[in-house]
Amino acid sequence: MKYLIPMAWIFFLACNTPSQTTTPDTKAQAEYALVIHGGAGTILKENMTPELEQQYHNKLKEALLAGYNVLQDGGSSMDAVESAIMIMENSPLFNAGKGAVFTNDGRNAMDASFMDGKTQNAGAVGGVRRVKNPIRAARAVLEKSKHVLLTGKGADVFAKEQGLELADTSYFYTERRWKSLQNAKQKEDGSSMIRTEDNDYKYGTVGAAALDKAGNLAAGTSTGGMTNKRYGRIGDSPIIGAGTYANNNTCAISSTGHGEYFMRYLVAYDISAMVEYKGSPFVEAADYVVNDKLKSKGGSGGIIGVDKYGNIAMPFNTAGMYRGYVLPDGEIKTFLYK
Ligand code: ASP
Repeated sequence: MKYLIPMAWIFFLACNTPSQTTTPDTKAQAEYALVIHGGAGTILKENMTPELEQQYHNKLKEALLAGYNVLQDGGSSMDAVESAIMIMENSPLFNAGKGAVFTNDGRNAMDASFMDGKTQNAGAVGGVRRVKNPIRAARAVLEKSKHVLLTGKGADVFAKEQGLELADTSYFYTERRWKSLQNAKQKEDGSSMIRTEDNDYKYGTVGAAALDKAGNLAAGTSTGGMTNKRYGRIGDSPIIGAGTYANNNTCAISSTGHGEYFMRYLVAYDISAMVEYKGSPFVEAADYVVNDKLKSKGGSGGIIGVDKYGNIAMPFNTAGMYRGYVLPDGEIKTFLYK
């Protein structure tokens, strides 16, 4: 009888060989891990040029390397998440910070959130227009305020008071996103919001989740939202439990996709709850929520996450998702398509 358990483990491990999107769902502890996304959507090879493909891989790698260096040096998962996200926010390739999409009244209004898995403190900003790196504002709300979510002008003022860098609204103007708005307005008679994937395959909310050497999890998400969203609309990205969630007892997650669905189904928390209450393996729980539950309700998108053992999950139900991860061996893996 005593040999049955090890045999079962060997069988389990053999059935769970590493795939492109996940690491094996085992309880073997990876000392640290970082996983990121740059948005999910109709990301198809036929719409890409080799140069653009390379640009995405390079930027994802740069973000992963920045976070990896923090973790390898014994830094916190919070710092790793922030440094990875800032690199993507500063790139026009992604729909966050510099490359944020436009609202129906032709402005940029960005959302971001941050969660610390150790304390379960959280911070978020919604509809900010001047903060250069909204992820830093979300972290400042977490660390320097009594609140969880600040929105609009009050959030911009708070960020300024915290000494964060503000940018002129013109900094967030990119021609590509402006054209996307014009296309969206033409297609949808200006009344409805569409996901940028529908008219612009080069899009992407950004997010990161990390496990550090101390065993602490953290996650963060940053976005411009959805092209042509109604002025004042807040999506899932700054909603704790929907766009972002972290709990040292379970996992850390960042979502991307049609925000209204992620909010209704509390996608990030739902996965964590399956792990916590049902004892589901993290990778399985993430896959079920994204590819079964959410999909059956009509919600498109994906998540990236890491659990307390260092297992990575990156499920999505769209054609592609900009994504990647790095484990202690330092090998950086990035992917764009299914
Ligand atoms: N979830 C974001 C939002 O709804 C958009 C995205 O991730 O594509 O605002």
